[in-house]
Amino acid sequence: MNGYQQLLEATIAHLEDLRRRGQSWVLVKPETLAALAKPPPAAPRRPAAAAPPPPPTSPVPPSPPARHAPAPPPAPPPRLPQLPAGALGFLTVAPAGPSAASTADEPDTGDRELAVAALRTQVLACVKCPHLVRTRRSVVFGVGNIYADLMFVGEAPGADEDAQGEPFVGAAGQLLTKMIQTMGLRRQDVFIANVLKCRPDTPGQTSGNRKPTPQEMVTCLPWLHQQIDLIRPKVLVALGATALEGLTQQRVSITKERGVWRDYRGIPLMPTYHPAYLLRNQSLAAKRQVWEDLLQVMEKLGLPISDKQRQYFLKK
Ligand code: SF4
Repeated sequence: MNGYQQLLEATIAHLEDLRRRGQSWVLVKPETLAALAKPPPAAPRRPAAAAPPPPPTSPVPPSPPARHAPAPPPAPPPRLPQLPAGALGFLTVAPAGPSAASTADEPDTGDRELAVAALRTQVLACVKCPHLVRTRRSVVFGVGNIYADLMFVGEAPGADEDAQGEPFVGAAGQLLTKMIQTMGLRRQDVFIANVLKCRPDTPGQTSGNRKPTPQEMVTCLPWLHQQIDLIRPKVLVALGATALEGLTQQRVSITKERGVWRDYRGIPLMPTYHPAYLLRNQSLAAKRQVWEDLLQVMEKLGLPISDKQRQYFLKK
């Protein structure tokens, strides 16, 4: 199977998986639809292999090759997988033009969708942490715009995320969505992922979540690196100390690190508090600290900031 077939099969598997999960559409650029309608690229022709020499022990000299020996019939072309009937109806064309938080005008037509779909298929099948594989209900790949300029990184799925297969869907996730909206964006404009893709198990407990261990995060980190390398956001935001520790593999104090730009794989990284911290600490000062971090992110991305936005969470 060539690379094209592998990518196509991975894409089909990805679409079928999304449909099984109840998703009725995905966002696709018009160029991608056009690329899907084209015939697949022809496989490169290989030079014919030379005939092996006759065995040297043969007492009979080899006969000269027939001048017009009939050529063997050409091998039938490999059967390419077909998009299932109705699959294109599953795709929704992305709105024309770049959004404030995306680079939808980039010229990598279709390649990124296929590469991300192939990566997703690999991650969903990952069994590198057997103890987590035994207890997980989902592998939480990540969600959002794969052309986003802004990517949020959390630590790991909790019980809600494990149940729904999507990061940041619990109470902290709802607050993160509000934070994104306060920046003038929509949740679907950004990409959201975790360092760890499977929920940390809680042996002996029927509920609750636990922090991922450094070893678990190191094991899973290559998946996140591949996501970052494919999505190529202009800014990363690490949500909380554990996410920052998972990314940097260093012990950190989020109190000291938040609000200070770092470089991560050549991308500016802004550490800030996890939304769950803001649920526990509802003070205006804590909200303002996170908001100031996000204002820096907006400035870095060139997003418009109104005077009103600059005043949010300040004491009157
Ligand atoms: S946590 Fe990451 S590395 Fe471990 S099994 Fe899940 S996807 Fe694989």
